[in-house]
Amino acid sequence: MLNKLVPKEMVESIYQIDLDRLWLQGKRGIITDLDNTLVGAEDPLATPELVAWLKSIRERGWKVAIVSNNNRTRVSAFAEPLNVPFLHSARKPSARAFVQAMQALQTDTAETVVVGDQMLTDVLGGNRLGMHTVLVKPVSLAGEGIFTRFNRRLEKIAVSRLKKQGHHMFKEEKR
Ligand SMILES: [Mg+2]
Repeated sequence: MLNKLVPKEMVESIYQIDLDRLWLQGKRGIITDLDNTLVGAEDPLATPELVAWLKSIRERGWKVAIVSNNNRTRVSAFAEPLNVPFLHSARKPSARAFVQAMQALQTDTAETVVVGDQMLTDVLGGNRLGMHTVLVKPVSLAGEGIFTRFNRRLEKIAVSRLKKQGHHMFKEEKR
């Protein structure tokens, strides 16, 4: 269980993901979390930087879907202007929404990258399906709900146990 919380890679933000390398490895689809991955949890809309990033990666052939545990109102208001397929109330780490998103993207687990800011939802869900998982640092800690705050406390415990097991990737982490 603990090992399933370890992302395949960690980056500061979505913009640091080496998509050219992942493309060469055969990845074609991105299932991304919304809150604190693409924008802060209190930011209703995409930033110009995010809009430009999405445009450029989709032009390069990437297929993108948003899978969020947040509600329909939040996720649709964010995703519809971007013309990105989305699933709300996804109950990550449950596999169901990831599988549905891959159907929408027409990709399989080997071709799909999962991106998110939480180990217990995004990373665990993607790893359990054998997908490539990328953990980003949360955009902002403001406005997070009680479940997310609870998950972050569990994350801290998991990270400290993983450190003891010698997972050096967390050395510089201040999560
Ligand atoms: Mg999130």
